[in-house]
Amino acid sequence: MGDAIFQQRSGYLGVGIVGRCGLLTPNQLAGLGDLARSLECRYCKMTTRQTLIFIIPENRLEELKAGVAALGLKVGVFGEIVRNVKACAGNQDLCQRALSDVFELGGKLQDHFMNRPTPCDFKIALAGCHRGCTDPLCADYGIIATSNDNYDVYIGGRGGSRKPVHATRIATSITGAGVSALLEHILKRYGVLGEPRERLCNTIKRVSLEAFLPPEGFLDPYRPSEENDFLNFAKW
Ligand code: SF4
Repeated sequence: MGDAIFQQRSGYLGVGIVGRCGLLTPNQLAGLGDLARSLECRYCKMTTRQTLIFIIPENRLEELKAGVAALGLKVGVFGEIVRNVKACAGNQDLCQRALSDVFELGGKLQDHFMNRPTPCDFKIALAGCHRGCTDPLCADYGIIATSNDNYDVYIGGRGGSRKPVHATRIATSITGAGVSALLEHILKRYGVLGEPRERLCNTIKRVSLEAFLPPEGFLDPYRPSEENDFLNFAKW
C-alpha cells in the first residue's frame, strides 16, 4: 500500500489525484490545468473511481505533489487500505433525483476513513437514490440514500473481476452518523476476521455475514427521530 504513483511502461509516471468525492472547485480545476501544462504532463485521465491520473516525467514528481497540496487536493492511495469514496452526482445542484446530499456524507467518510489499513483493498460507493449510478452494490461498503439523511447500507460487493459479487443489505433507514458508526464497526470486524489479501466478500463467505452484523440495538440511536436527530447532530 502507499501513494498512487505508478511507473508506466512508457517511462512516465502515472500519479492519481483525489478530490473530495470527485468534486473540484473552478479554482482547483484551473489550477490543475496550469499544473499539467507546467509539468509537461502528457495527458490527464479521469478514472472510474473519480480520481484524475496525471502522466508526467519522473523528475517532476515532487513539483506535482507540492502543486496538488497547494490546491487542497491529495495524491491518491492504493493497496490494502480504504480507498477514496466514490459518490454520485447527488446534491441539489447536480441531480434532480438526489434524495440526500451525498457529498456532505461522502466527504466526511473520506476525510475520516481513507488510508486506513485493511486486509485487502476496501472500496466505498455512495448513491443519492436507488438508481445507484456509482454501483453501490459492487462495493465493499455501499450506501444508498432513501430520503434526506436517511440511508440503506450494503456490504460485501465486488465489481471489476471475473466473479462480480452483489452486496447484501445489512441496514435500512439510518442517518449519516449511523453510516459512519456502522462502517467503523465493519472495518473493526474485517480487521479481526479477514485474512491477508482476502477481499471482504470472501471473508463473509468464509465466516458468515452474521459475524459482521452489529450487536442488537447498535443502530437504534441512528434511526431518524426528533430526539436522535438532536443527539446525532451534536456528535457528527
Ligand atoms: S444515483 Fe440517483 S441521485 Fe445519484 S446521480 Fe444517479 S440518479 Fe442522481
